[in-house]
Amino acid sequence: MTFQDLHIIPSILKALHDTGYTEPTPIQAQAIPFGLRRQDILGIAQTGTGKTAAFAIPILQHIAQETERKKESRAISSLIVTPTRELAIQIDESFAAYGKYTGVKHAVIFGGVPQGKQVKALERGVDVLVATPGRLLDLMNQGFISLERIKYFVLDEADRMLDMGFIHDIKKLLTALPKKRQSLFFSATMPPKIANLSKQILYKPKKVAVNPISSTAEMIHQSVYMTNKSSKKELLLHILKNPKIDQVLLFSRTKHGADRIVRNLRKKKIACAAIHGEKSQNQRQKALGDFKSSKIRVLVATDIASRGIDIDKLRYVINYDVPNEPESYVHRIGRCGRAGEEGVAISLCEPEENIYIRNIERLIKQKISIIEDHPFPQTDKPMTAAEKKEFEKEKQRRRQEFFANRRKKRGEHHSSPGKKRKRKNNK
Ligand code: AMP
Repeated sequence: MTFQDLHIIPSILKALHDTGYTEPTPIQAQAIPFGLRRQDILGIAQTGTGKTAAFAIPILQHIAQETERKKESRAISSLIVTPTRELAIQIDESFAAYGKYTGVKHAVIFGGVPQGKQVKALERGVDVLVATPGRLLDLMNQGFISLERIKYFVLDEADRMLDMGFIHDIKKLLTALPKKRQSLFFSATMPPKIANLSKQILYKPKKVAVNPISSTAEMIHQSVYMTNKSSKKELLLHILKNPKIDQVLLFSRTKHGADRIVRNLRKKKIACAAIHGEKSQNQRQKALGDFKSSKIRVLVATDIASRGIDIDKLRYVINYDVPNEPESYVHRIGRCGRAGEEGVAISLCEPEENIYIRNIERLIKQKISIIEDHPFPQTDKPMTAAEKKEFEKEKQRRRQEFFANRRKKRGEHHSSPGKKRKRKNNK
């Protein structure tokens, strides 16, 4: 199958040729014909499958062919809503790449940065708008955006959108969209909540699906180092001694953990950067840029920040911790071995995480190979239930102590949330 077989117009074919794509990925081969026939699509596919082009190409083609479109009456005719800024930027870049010979105008808006530049771009006239939900509603409320002339609507990464608490924003958005439109709905998973949401959006959709979540893992070489919590730092350095690992995306459960890993690696002169929710947009873009251009060897990311990171031919993913949700593991390792490339996923497992490995193996229906031969074997045992309880108690006590000290430093008086609420109610 070639892109020509899909009846794509020459201006887009030329751009696809420029990007180096030789043939459509399975999701593209399935979805593009429906998209071009203006049918609604329910797509089950995660990032890494080529789903962006699967929805972008038909939209670009429709808009490019609408010859009556005039510059002065340009109105947003296509809206792509996606959960994170990184994804939004990447989708916008994809529209730029695939649509560079079509004359279709596109813009991207997302929160966390001043709105001035985004508003200016909108005022210049836009055909395709890529947006995260919060900023979109904000600019709609301010009167900068009207959705009245939307003909093509894409809801991307619907499952992540719900996980991130955007359901109310999405519902609000739906009321502002014209009834007559083509809708494309993409999600990596399809639990009942998502299926219900899709029913509110789609009309007689065509279903396309690739790589169900549990099977993506099959293409990736996976291994786990069983170790102790206290040895992970050293073990990571040991693994990074392998010069073949020249570009690696490393996952950390928490932002503080990510910063700590970066500090430790830098001490050993390993070029790295962290990307997480507390980094500014500029810092994130710089880290990603440096990683893509191989200025840094290790990019440390938290799960949410990692969504939408798109790096061509990433070979290595390291899980510094094993995620307790098996789906997160599959999402993480799905960042390597993209579009047919071979990937390698390495996990560092401390005793408390042994059980997570078993849950993951159950989901992916395969065994993860254990690396036995390394200098930091797991010698500690997982905590018993009683020990865990004690550990949680101690953690809670330390947290309270930390906040009490911080309040003291700031000269604040102690007031528990309960007391605050009571005071408020008494007012
Ligand atoms: P996506 O799932 O849309 O995030 O795309 C994943 C990666 O696959 C991106 O790096 C795309 O540039 C790449 N890609 C998309 N379509 C193709 C294709 N037909 N051939 C080769 N690479 C592709």
